[in-house]
Amino acid sequence: MSKTIPVQKNDYIEAVFEDLTHDGAGVAKVDGYPIFVQGGLPEEKAKIKVIKTNKGYAIGKLIEILERSHFRVDIAKQDAHKYGGCQIEHISYEGQLKYKENMVRQVLTRIGKLEDVKVHTILGMEHPWHYRNKAQVPVGEKDGKLIAGFFKQRTHEIVDTNESLIQLPEINEAVQTVKEICSELRIPAYQEESHKGVIRHIMARYGKTTGELMVVLVTRTGEIPFKEKLVEQIIASLPQVKSIVHNVNSKRTNVILGDKTKLLWGNEVIYDYIGDVKFAISARSFYQVNPDQTKVLYEKALEYADLSGEENVIDAYCGIGTISLFLAQKARKVFGVEIVPEAIEDAKRNAELNGITNAEFAVGEAETVIPKWYKEGNNADVLVVDPPRKGCDERLLNTIIEMRPKKVVYVSCNPATLARDLRILEDGGYKTVEVQPVDMFPQTTHVECCALIELIK
Ligand code: SAH
Repeated sequence: MSKTIPVQKNDYIEAVFEDLTHDGAGVAKVDGYPIFVQGGLPEEKAKIKVIKTNKGYAIGKLIEILERSHFRVDIAKQDAHKYGGCQIEHISYEGQLKYKENMVRQVLTRIGKLEDVKVHTILGMEHPWHYRNKAQVPVGEKDGKLIAGFFKQRTHEIVDTNESLIQLPEINEAVQTVKEICSELRIPAYQEESHKGVIRHIMARYGKTTGELMVVLVTRTGEIPFKEKLVEQIIASLPQVKSIVHNVNSKRTNVILGDKTKLLWGNEVIYDYIGDVKFAISARSFYQVNPDQTKVLYEKALEYADLSGEENVIDAYCGIGTISLFLAQKARKVFGVEIVPEAIEDAKRNAELNGITNAEFAVGEAETVIPKWYKEGNNADVLVVDPPRKGCDERLLNTIIEMRPKKVVYVSCNPATLARDLRILEDGGYKTVEVQPVDMFPQTTHVECCALIELIK
């Protein structure tokens, strides 16, 4: 790359996009110097305005597309649909799948140095819209009127909207209904700047297999004005509602939920099934947001684990025990470990709920608890990991290499850390047999993978 920067701020240039970044921006190059432009697609020629230059790259704005990619789709109201970060909704679904699959391949080769790894065709959705079973919608005020919708990208300005294209229709309906009721009852919206007002977020969760709905009202104040009327009207307008919860968050913070949760009406939890396993979901618990694809992902993990009923399985980063309980149906025993104590309480309750007695759960860091188990003589035939975006802790990977389980099944929401960790396992005597990308989050840049790793004799 040349030392001088070939473009300047406010320049208008014409360029062809060559690639997409991991966050969905188009990459154009001038003399090898990359310019990242949101909205640009590979093979498109476009007019770009340079917004900012840095030493190694520039940021540009898309002014006009001069030659259009056949993967581009028109979006009616681009801004209004950028809900919850639909960064790549301007790409056809076929194009999105191709982009994600390519990204997985590239990252495994570049970061993991896994030259000959088998990456399967990504498993996408038949209808890649209206899939999310959960919404958390910020509430505000504009011209004296209560509004709710989403934050405009990189701002704290709320855009009022009733329709998200990636949320389940039941979720959209719930949010809109609660918003209208709050508005009619004149319950004051929270005002971020002055830290006044009452209602901060409307949250809704829906069990797609049971049809049960939970509404969570997050407020700044300990009390909600017209609380009885509010609850009465929610019940009357949303027949699927099974749980109405009040959460108090009185802090100046971006974090949505506060520490205090009170039940206003109904049950504390709603239920949902993944396959045959039933889960209780509370206002606070982590639960996968795309129920259809979660089943696809977990079935793949189960297939890779290839259990006969004789195996001891460890499920690291187990959350509320979703994967553990799915595997327990086919294993001798499953040991789940997770850092959040409430999640482990949920996991134990979920085991009971399903009459599953061969699953045990422990609170702690996977990288501390699993080495301890190993020292105590508790080994595993199959080890499953499903870490957060930063991947597995190196201590855990080193312990796996010492323990030598026959199989490791790695469920990952970040191909870059998956690749890094696979390299460590390969250097420790393992082989990556295959990787299955699954599209859990259509219209966004996120991609989930399930990898099978085996011990080489
Ligand atoms: N397997 C679950 C949850 C996956 S999300 C599911 O599919 O639903 C990753 C989980 O790892 C979160 O629940 C998070 O709380 C937990 N976690 C994060 N760091 C951890 C650590 N060091 N040790 C154990 N669990 C951890």
